[in-house]
Amino acid sequence: SLTAGIVGLPNVGKSTLFNAITQAGAESANYPFCTIDPNVGIVEVPDERLNHLTTLVKPKKTVPTAFEFTDIAGIVKGASKGEGLGNQFLSHIRQVDAICQVVRCFDDENITHVSGAINPIDDIEIINLELILADLETVNKRYQRVEKLAKQKDKEAVMEYEVLTKLKEAFENEKPARSIDFNEDQMKIVKGLHLLTSKPMLYVANVSEDDIVEPEANEHVKKVKEYAAKEDSEVIVISARIEEEISELDQEEKTMFLSELGIQESGLDQLIKASYSLLGLGTYFTAGEQEVRAWTFRKGMKAPQAAGIIHTDFEKGFIRAETVSYDDLVEAGSMTQARENGKVRLEGKDYIVQDGDIIHFRFNV
Ligand code: GDP
Repeated sequence: SLTAGIVGLPNVGKSTLFNAITQAGAESANYPFCTIDPNVGIVEVPDERLNHLTTLVKPKKTVPTAFEFTDIAGIVKGASKGEGLGNQFLSHIRQVDAICQVVRCFDDENITHVSGAINPIDDIEIINLELILADLETVNKRYQRVEKLAKQKDKEAVMEYEVLTKLKEAFENEKPARSIDFNEDQMKIVKGLHLLTSKPMLYVANVSEDDIVEPEANEHVKKVKEYAAKEDSEVIVISARIEEEISELDQEEKTMFLSELGIQESGLDQLIKASYSLLGLGTYFTAGEQEVRAWTFRKGMKAPQAAGIIHTDFEKGFIRAETVSYDDLVEAGSMTQARENGKVRLEGKDYIVQDGDIIHFRFNV
């Protein structure tokens, strides 16, 4: 399954956030297929639609879908040159699908900052530069060989040479690969390079408890947002301390606590949702008297593949997918009524599953 890695300089609040994630953690009994690794935290994906389906269908059990975060400690300046745990750090980043970069936006005299003062943009640039330098090395390793082949007019080499040149230029200007536009064919070449800076990036601005109600007033947050906008990245504002406290509460207490603070949704829930959509993930549902359940799929997946997420037999013996969209079901009020309205479709093997679909798979055993 896809995972988002949590990175950041020392003392920015990574461990505090990761503690919140593991404490809020999902019951692993529901997710036996998830990774068991101390550096991986499994959370449930909050979804209003699942709650509503539960009130409509009244099943014995409701199961949300899960998402994994990986804690990646150990970035320091010079990581791309092997400083500190540099190489290990970079190889861990290579394994994740998206990066959540925690940025310190809280002032606290008691907690030292690695560079002395709080400057989120400097911090971001330290980390991003290490990733860019590692990618530059990857590109340089191929460059000369491909250049030679390209001069001999080898068609594929010419195209790769173009891509590598573009990347090299971007990296030399300290720009990440994700900031460059490539066409579909070029994108295939970029994917093959397994670059660190082509992974989607989400900035997590960690503010103090006092700033969470009005994060816009925090100058550091403003700067992070400006920076992120330039490279089309998103920013989530959280207070890791508050998230750690919230993670110890049950659902009812959590709702009360949040409304006292005047916020709608916890930072962690926002982070889960944002990471999920950053990775191009969607949710479909299965709904029966026994169980209403949410399932994660990659957008663009066809029905048999999506069925395979539940069980490989569902994919192998796939016949059809009885499908109703969430909005149609809610409008009808019940599955029976949705059927009468003609809203339950019989979809075949080429159907591209949509976010919010409620599906009953028919399959041969
Ligand atoms: P890490 O090195 O990035 O893992 O950072 P930690 O999570 O260990 O946090 C470093 C210090 O900052 C700890 O003393 C935390 O309690 C503190 N800290 C983390 N988040 C916040 C926050 O939101 N507000 C304040 N005031 N302190 C925080």
